[in-house]
Amino acid sequence: MADKKIHIIITGEDGNGRAVAVGRNTLRNLFVIAVIASACLVSGTLAALKYYHANRELAEQTRILDTKLARISEVLSRTRAERDQLAIDREELLETSISRLDEKSKVIQEVMDQIGIEIKVEDDPDHSGGPFIADERQYGELLLEQTDRYLEVIRQMPLGRPVPGRISSKYGRRTDPLVRRKAFHPGIDFRGRTGDRIRATGDAIVKKVGRNNILGRHVILSHGNGYETIFAHMSKTLVNKGEKIQRGQVIGLIGNTGRSTGSHLHYGIRRNGKSIDPMKYLRVADISLTVNR
Ligand SMILES: [Zn+2]
Repeated sequence: MADKKIHIIITGEDGNGRAVAVGRNTLRNLFVIAVIASACLVSGTLAALKYYHANRELAEQTRILDTKLARISEVLSRTRAERDQLAIDREELLETSISRLDEKSKVIQEVMDQIGIEIKVEDDPDHSGGPFIADERQYGELLLEQTDRYLEVIRQMPLGRPVPGRISSKYGRRTDPLVRRKAFHPGIDFRGRTGDRIRATGDAIVKKVGRNNILGRHVILSHGNGYETIFAHMSKTLVNKGEKIQRGQVIGLIGNTGRSTGSHLHYGIRRNGKSIDPMKYLRVADISLTVNR
């Protein structure tokens, strides 16, 4: 079948014309190509638009993430700085505590030296290992333990006076007030009135509450570390055997019972079963607790 032609006439303003003959099939083909091209153009534009939007969203998300990251880094570096400062502060605090502890430990030793009392502080086997001390922390712990043990011993040690009264008879050889011949006096006598309060000179456990012809009504306290105190000629005892006593607690009242010539307190200290002179233990109250720097 012959291709029918369509004649397209193009005229100018001057009236001159030109005719172009195009086959129908060719025209149809051209139309199909135009439709396909348009479709391609539209879908391409749509795809480009979609891609553009996605790209913009991604860029925005990246920006937000970058901001967050910057903030996190800032917080992190601040936290690190704070942590470092804390570590420094802690070290300084530790050093201060140790030096203060060291000072206190020296005070205790000084006081004990002045009294002339030897304190036996046993070494903890877990912490003995020669003179080498690994670090300050370990040294601090060691000092703390040592100071604690010192304090424990001192709490129990008989220190100071049991009564405020004047001393009427000292420890040692003297002329016996009853038979008028030389005898050994194993304690200190304090003047006082019957009924005056007698106080424990250190933490202790009541070892004995008794009465006999020599000591009269008496109390013996056990302080640990080999120390015992004896209180004699009391008018009344106010504690019971086995009772726990604290320093300063009233244990009885001054009296004139037993071998006694008048109201007074006989006070004795024993160490490892032997009587010792209580005088240096009484003087503790007079020692000033200052540190030499
Ligand atoms: Zn006496």
